[in-house]
Amino acid sequence: MLNIVIFGPPGAGKGTQSKMIIEKYKLMHLSTGDILRAEMAKKTPLGMEAKNLIEKGDLVPDEIVNKMMKKKIEENADQRGFIFDGFPRTPEQAEALDKMLAEIGSGISVMISLEVDEQELIDRLLKRAEIEGRKDDNIETIKNRINVYNEVTSRVMNHYKKTGRSRSVSGTGSIEEIFERICRVIDDFA
Ligand code: ADP
Repeated sequence: MLNIVIFGPPGAGKGTQSKMIIEKYKLMHLSTGDILRAEMAKKTPLGMEAKNLIEKGDLVPDEIVNKMMKKKIEENADQRGFIFDGFPRTPEQAEALDKMLAEIGSGISVMISLEVDEQELIDRLLKRAEIEGRKDDNIETIKNRINVYNEVTSRVMNHYKKTGRSRSVSGTGSIEEIFERICRVIDDFA
């Protein structure tokens, strides 16, 4: 399998790049944010529990997210591979993901970290707010999300650095330019 973690702060372009990567490499896109938003729209118990946390920009507890992802992985173990977007977001989630993949005889091929500076992130998210109207794209929540990224999520990098399977890519420039940079990294690890 080819399993990729696409990593970076909110607004880095993980979702946009993931869509291009799944086309080219025929992978399955697993975005915790998309899955949680779908649960919220359907008003499931999981969605109801996640709603307040997401709207404040806080993390949904590891236990919930891990269980949700384990189910997706098990149901799709016959895929060519996955791209994990928005997951893992804590070192505990990273440990759990390794176990889930080991159980299907696989593992993470590479983690790609998209680097974008903070002011650009804020500008992008505010622009997205006008287009998509996501409730968590307001200035207060955006600042909290970036803070949570800096305090907690950024530590996930160390997990992959230890195994030599992490690469940083500049996330500024045109979408195509960034995609080319990412493909070069994937082709090195594939
Ligand atoms: P972004 O990366 O643009 O902030 P996402 O769509 O990936 O947005 O996630 C939106 C929100 O969903 C997060 O702010 C968080 O509340 C919740 N969430 C998504 N993935 C996770 C995760 N792996 N662990 C905990 N909470 C998560």
